[in-house]
Amino acid sequence: MTKPRIALVTGASRGIGRAIALGLAQRGFDLAINDIASQATALDAVAAEARASGIRAMTYHADVASKPEVQAMVARILQDFGTIHAVVNNAGILRASDVEHCPEDYWDSVMDVNAKGTFLVTQAVLPTMKAQNYGRICNISSIGGKHGAPEQAHYSASKAAVMGFTRVLAQEVGPFGITANCICPGIILTDMGRVNLDDPAIRGAWQAKTAMARIGDPDDVAGPVAFFCSDDSAFVTGQTLNVDGGIVLS
Ligand code: NAP
Repeated sequence: MTKPRIALVTGASRGIGRAIALGLAQRGFDLAINDIASQATALDAVAAEARASGIRAMTYHADVASKPEVQAMVARILQDFGTIHAVVNNAGILRASDVEHCPEDYWDSVMDVNAKGTFLVTQAVLPTMKAQNYGRICNISSIGGKHGAPEQAHYSASKAAVMGFTRVLAQEVGPFGITANCICPGIILTDMGRVNLDDPAIRGAWQAKTAMARIGDPDDVAGPVAFFCSDDSAFVTGQTLNVDGGIVLS
């Protein structure tokens, strides 16, 4: 990277998004970090921590599932930074239920944030990326979108949607110097990951399924995301990379 790049990371107040934002800051990216308004204090803390790396970091409150909020956010980022080089669509939610009893609003909210949010943020940044003939889009899917687990059918569907979206997006935007790739985290210790990890038996079972014989840390995801946001991955697009310590082996 020859000059400072500007990256937008959604859902960056905690967990994997926070680790991605700090990882990009350590690699010299200026940051526009997003979360919903109720996470303002936590998001401010991430921005302050990122600035310790000597970069610019600003916070933007928006629900990624709301088109007006996403468009307003991207307009403000463009005013503040002038452009956006990389986007990490990380914001996501998990609401567990089996299919038979899954309330309709679980389906809708999970699809809205995980799948539609990725689409809306991507759509909002594309005119800028196309105009500058450069862009890096990294979408956070999940190994749950490939295999999944009981009580997560709607989550799995949303993450499979992100992978399908990314493969077609890559074909559309490639001629404009824009790459689009997916990361599929495995079992990572965050507030969301604890759904799978609070029960010691379940935690042990996941650990046993993992080649590295450990649960993932949010920082484990930061490096692979930074690769997809950098010029080291200039000829890599439409790909899905498992970052799971070796649960899904391919
Ligand atoms: P997390 O700890 O729950 O953090 C997710 C962040 O996204 C939270 O700050 C959350 O805010 C924010 N967010 C939720 N809805 C949003 C919206 N509509 N607009 C903007 N921000 C929103 O989850 P995580 O474990 O770090 O997960 C990050 C990403 O990795 C997600 O896409 C998730 O599906 C994926 N992933 C996680 C794992 C895992 O094991 N942890 C595995 C595979 C994939 P709130 O606090 O208000 O919800």
